[in-house]
Amino acid sequence: MITRSPVPLQRQAPEAAGGHWQTQLSGAVRDPRELCRRLELAPAWWPGAETGHGLFAVRVPEAYLARIRPGDPHDPLLRQVLPLDAEARPTPGYVTDPLEEAEHTPKRGLIHKYAGRVLLIASPACAVNCRYCFRRHFPYEENAPSRSQWDETLEYLRGDGSIREAILSGGDPLAASDRQLAWLVARLEAIPHLKRLRIHTRLPVVIPDRIDEALLAWLGGTRLQAVMVLHINHAQEIDEAVIAACRRLREAGVTLLNQSVLLRGVNDDIDTLAALSERLFEAGVLPYYLHVLDPVAGAAHFEVDDDEARALVAALRRELPGFLMPTLVREIPGEASKTPL
Ligand code: SF4
Repeated sequence: MITRSPVPLQRQAPEAAGGHWQTQLSGAVRDPRELCRRLELAPAWWPGAETGHGLFAVRVPEAYLARIRPGDPHDPLLRQVLPLDAEARPTPGYVTDPLEEAEHTPKRGLIHKYAGRVLLIASPACAVNCRYCFRRHFPYEENAPSRSQWDETLEYLRGDGSIREAILSGGDPLAASDRQLAWLVARLEAIPHLKRLRIHTRLPVVIPDRIDEALLAWLGGTRLQAVMVLHINHAQEIDEAVIAACRRLREAGVTLLNQSVLLRGVNDDIDTLAALSERLFEAGVLPYYLHVLDPVAGAAHFEVDDDEARALVAALRRELPGFLMPTLVREIPGEASKTPL
């Protein structure tokens, strides 16, 4: 277990980190050598970065890169985005579709696993490629619906009165344009039995400028109760720009929650987890879930075993008030909900 001081960085983002979110999205670093050079990593890291990149491409927006300490290969944000040769090592039990999502896609772009809610793949793209992602092998090309395929998906939702909540996921749903998202949300809110719109996204964290007026117009204006589940794993990810983005969302009436993944070398110690919960609350975000790693091929080096995970959470409970405690969960294929550990 690594213990480090989780001091949030306040380093100024470079000029390139500003500007319209779509420019930032397309300008993300996509070359493993450039990533290594920009972060002043020794050439010894380069071949591994190339190998991992060949399995799952590098993508790091400038606004996120600016929060990584140059010259520190153990930086907790860097570890989430730097490809390693360990990703090429086969590990028993680690597979390409650990949650068996391919079994639960009744329509293109739709995953219906749990009662009362469905997950819609609103965008195949992500703003950042997280090395531990359980969807790193997901066939997004086969699941990115066209407008007419959306009509079929919406028909499915209209036909099932038990569905109360639509969850926009991806990829990252906020990588879609506001025009597309406004179109989709207008159709969702016309389905009378839908009550809630939930958005699972990492974009406000990696490109905080994504939370702009155009987004707030459709999200703040919907009759559906809006919930945004952010994905933040370390307090160092929450800089002033992220706090400002969260404030804009809260002012638009959006409930903010966070889910993290427990990751070896990123957040596998008490101080880091406690600092994350505290910093989330400063940003107006409640900790929701702490996931153990899904066994996806290429991510075994991030694993924290269940006993250690339980011990960490028990120790965390002694440090924090209950409302800052995330629930430790695992997603088990075929189960009716996430399973608390
Ligand atoms: S943002 Fe989410 S979906 Fe995209 S790579 Fe990271 S963990 Fe996976």
